[in-house]
Amino acid sequence: MQLGEPPFRGDQLSRHYFARLTDEPDQMTDLPAASRASLAAALLPRLLTSERELSCDQGMTRKTLWRTFDRARVESVLMRYPDRATMCVSSQAGCGMGCPFCATGQAGLTRNLSAGEIVEQVVAGARVLAAGGAGGSPCRLSNVVFMGMGEPLANYRSVLSAVRRITDPLPHGLGLSQRHVTVSTVGLVPAMHRLTAEGLAVTLAVSLHAPDDELRDQLVPVNRRWPVAEVLDAAWGYASVTGRRVSIEYALIRDINDQPWRADALGVLLSGRLVHVNLIPLNPTPGSKWTASAPGAMDAFVGRLESHGVPVTVRDTRGSEIDGACGQLAASAAG
Ligand code: SAH
Ligand code: SF4
Repeated sequence: MQLGEPPFRGDQLSRHYFARLTDEPDQMTDLPAASRASLAAALLPRLLTSERELSCDQGMTRKTLWRTFDRARVESVLMRYPDRATMCVSSQAGCGMGCPFCATGQAGLTRNLSAGEIVEQVVAGARVLAAGGAGGSPCRLSNVVFMGMGEPLANYRSVLSAVRRITDPLPHGLGLSQRHVTVSTVGLVPAMHRLTAEGLAVTLAVSLHAPDDELRDQLVPVNRRWPVAEVLDAAWGYASVTGRRVSIEYALIRDINDQPWRADALGVLLSGRLVHVNLIPLNPTPGSKWTASAPGAMDAFVGRLESHGVPVTVRDTRGSEIDGACGQLAASAAG
């Protein structure tokens, strides 16, 4: 290092950041007092500044709107459950994929986040939990999902190095289980193949939203490049190489993709595969004509999938009253 300090200082700083969850020089009492501040500034620069915090569910759900050093906005959501605590992180400021039902997609891509900016969201969540700040006694962060702003596989290098930091053992990483990290993708097939070859045990989630290309071309424009069949082939490749159950995300949009025949078509595509379907009632974005499916339609959709032997759950809509869904807080702050 260029700071005229011995090499083990880097290790000491790692330990402060990942094991003690601090980047405050005052608390680094094992470092020489004279160089604490300069070491922390050089090795642990403040990457994100919290601009707004919102919470609901008696504090068990907590959303943060962050500003990067160059004033880009990103957001993360911490969700505490009886048996686990999940941090939902952003991988990009904005997103270039343009899905019309998604608030982030409306705003376009500002830039990729660095691995450090992604990891900092996770560490911030772990810090809140360790301080007992998410409704209850102190606890550990157990899960990370890449379901905030951005398409993680469009920022491949940073996301992969963030995944390694999050899952490497202490003190060089946060020590989370790879199985408890979920990378959600819109279906960038070449990057899915690349991820398959990494030898990681992370959970892959694929945002399908329609079983047929005609509708998926509209809901997920990148489908025109990599259609349903290719996306699912890549997903099955991931499942067979890693042995990990793939999660299929399907936002239920009233009268758009929630018809019984589409549930059957989806059931036929997924039947017999190592898969689990997550149905998400659409969280309507401001000004959109689309809304969530009626409860009856949701139940019917679940029933049809189950009749094909496909495991399915309806995702809880935690945090929807604080614009918890993808990109909505940043969008409302910008507007
Ligand atoms: N870009 C990635 C990951 C971030 S989005 C992806 O699309 O998979 C995380 C999930 O939230 C995706 O499944 C996405 O389709 C879903 N989503 C986005 N906007 C939504 C909305 N308004 N209501 C419900 N789900 C939404
Ligand atoms: Fe991007 Fe995902 Fe939103 Fe589509 S749903 S615009 S891929 S963040």
